[in-house]
Amino acid sequence: MAIVIDRDQGIKSELEDRIGLECPYCGVYAHMQPQSVPEAQMLLRDRPKHVGLVYKCDACNAPVFLRFAVREYQDNKVELYRNFVELERPKERFAFSYLPKHTEALFREALSCYSNNNFNAFASMCRRASVSAFHALDEGGKLRAFEEVMTAQDIAGIDDEAFAPIKAVLFGAGSHEDLPLLNRAQAGILLEVLKDMFYQCFVRRGKLTRAIKVRRFFVTEADNDNLASA
Ligand SMILES: [Zn+2]
Repeated sequence: MAIVIDRDQGIKSELEDRIGLECPYCGVYAHMQPQSVPEAQMLLRDRPKHVGLVYKCDACNAPVFLRFAVREYQDNKVELYRNFVELERPKERFAFSYLPKHTEALFREALSCYSNNNFNAFASMCRRASVSAFHALDEGGKLRAFEEVMTAQDIAGIDDEAFAPIKAVLFGAGSHEDLPLLNRAQAGILLEVLKDMFYQCFVRRGKLTRAIKVRRFFVTEADNDNLASA
């Protein structure tokens, strides 16, 4: 069913008509209700091809801007197609502080490309981010990273054919121009695989080292207390 903005009744939205969406602010998959709707009168006068509506996230009350294509102008109402463009996409998160500085800068831009649906720009930035990570790792680091990615493929049960472009982006020997073109699905796999690779190579090591340091600190403190009270 299309969304209707009526000259007299405004937007007709029943409860079951609400939109479900991953909120770009709180990251929750939540219902969205129309909060700010253009007046039908103005739309009927200007007859734009697209119409912007502001919805409100049920989980965090943040405003979420969506753009709809107009299906039809009638005498007293405007009908919109149900599918929409999200003008703000949810940001991809990562524990960036564990990455080497250079890798962090490149990977942040990669994730920004992904959030904006620029999947081949995303792939190019993934190549740069992974090359920078291999430089930062000690000798044998690239091989270890490769093994982590193979394990990820195995855990996720992705067949070799589907996985080939992902491997080509991360480990391919060719130049930048030889990168394969990725679609949305492949970019999604690349995203998860690279996040996992960075996690295994940097985040896990960083977290574990820090946690053990803290444990040792408390053991030393306890020993000092015991000595003091003896
Ligand atoms: Zn929200």
